[in-house]
Amino acid sequence: MSATATRVLVLNSGSSSVKYQLLDMSDTESKSGSAAGRLAVGLVERIGEETSRLAHTPLATGGAKRETEGPIADHEAALKAVAAELTADGLGLDSPELAAIGHRVVHGGLKFTAPTVIDEAVLEEIERLVPVAPLHNPANITGIRTAQALRPDLPQVAVFDTAFHTTMPEYAARYAIDVETADAHRIRRYGFHGTSHAYVSRKTAELLGKAPEEVNVIVLHLGNGASASAVAGGRCVDTSMGLTPLEGLVMGTRSGDIDPAVTFHLKRVAGMDEDEVDVLLNKKSGLIGLCGDNDMREIRRRIDEGDERARLAFDIYIHRLKKYIGAYSAVLGKVDAVAFTAGVGENAAPVREAAIAGLEEMGMAVDAARNAVRSDEPRLISPDYARVAVAVVPTDEELEIAQQTYALVNA
Ligand code: AMP
Repeated sequence: MSATATRVLVLNSGSSSVKYQLLDMSDTESKSGSAAGRLAVGLVERIGEETSRLAHTPLATGGAKRETEGPIADHEAALKAVAAELTADGLGLDSPELAAIGHRVVHGGLKFTAPTVIDEAVLEEIERLVPVAPLHNPANITGIRTAQALRPDLPQVAVFDTAFHTTMPEYAARYAIDVETADAHRIRRYGFHGTSHAYVSRKTAELLGKAPEEVNVIVLHLGNGASASAVAGGRCVDTSMGLTPLEGLVMGTRSGDIDPAVTFHLKRVAGMDEDEVDVLLNKKSGLIGLCGDNDMREIRRRIDEGDERARLAFDIYIHRLKKYIGAYSAVLGKVDAVAFTAGVGENAAPVREAAIAGLEEMGMAVDAARNAVRSDEPRLISPDYARVAVAVVPTDEELEIAQQTYALVNA
């Protein structure tokens, strides 16, 4: 790597999409907020369809967002299109300033506890995990292979969604099922959104003026997918997602916790097969199943108009959240902070207010005026007297991936 190489390209490859950011790591500390270090950001959607779309924003040049529509056949074509956009801005991937490419990889199993430079053996291991992450890992592998073909000389780093959770003690990670069966099929709780939980728990400590080792934090990552984690002194000790991202909180379209017997019942009594049950619980449940909307803005609007179904969906969502706050308070023993993050957590003040309401005996409260403030910055929303800090801490998974990637290639 050349001494001037300070750029990292972050790739988040989904089954039909690629999200990307090019960051200059020499610039991420000096500025705050979402602009820090960002040279370009973008998204390719609907890969493989006639109506693929590429949206690219060249932040470095201050240029406007450019959008192009038209067929993009596969991930290779998508990445080439992205490379062409970057070249047009003078930020081409052939630049000696590019230090590495960081890839989000959803499932790292138990083996990958930290970011890892990708070689053939690493790719094979990510491939071996496809049975436990059938939707995500194949797309991640495709993204990696495509990027390798584009810049074979460059370090490619995998940053795993599961890695932050590998510190969970065995009694939190294991399901109470037959040990041999569980081990034979690698059935255990892995957790997801790890880069977000890592980033937000660290930022929360920073907001409190403490080192991560000094604080216990409950992180509530509430996006369309949602998960909670209990972080003790910087280490994850429990998280709400499990073998897959289906377990835990009520989400946009996922049920979260459910009696597993419901699945047998759906098969035996409702005549559904596995795939139908899978689609029901992952795509047609949660908020959308309960009220037909998965966007919290729309749900709040309907509640304001007196819509009972939207109200009930909201109440079920909040009830589950409260149960996890209570459970993780007990797991941690002492809680220093509760941090809200992601689309809902960062923007929906009524969710934060309702989730913390009634928890005064646990030292938790929300100050209405502080909760109403909108900002991109980490901030406290609890009153000064509260024993537990309640905070809004915007997540930044791309920055976390870039930082972990950059640190590894400079180690
Ligand atoms: P994410 O998955 O983190 O991008 O979060 C997406 C979700 O955030 C959306 O489905 C909405 O439910 C929620 N969201 C985004 N903006 C707002 C807002 N201004 N108010 C309430 N909820 C929001």
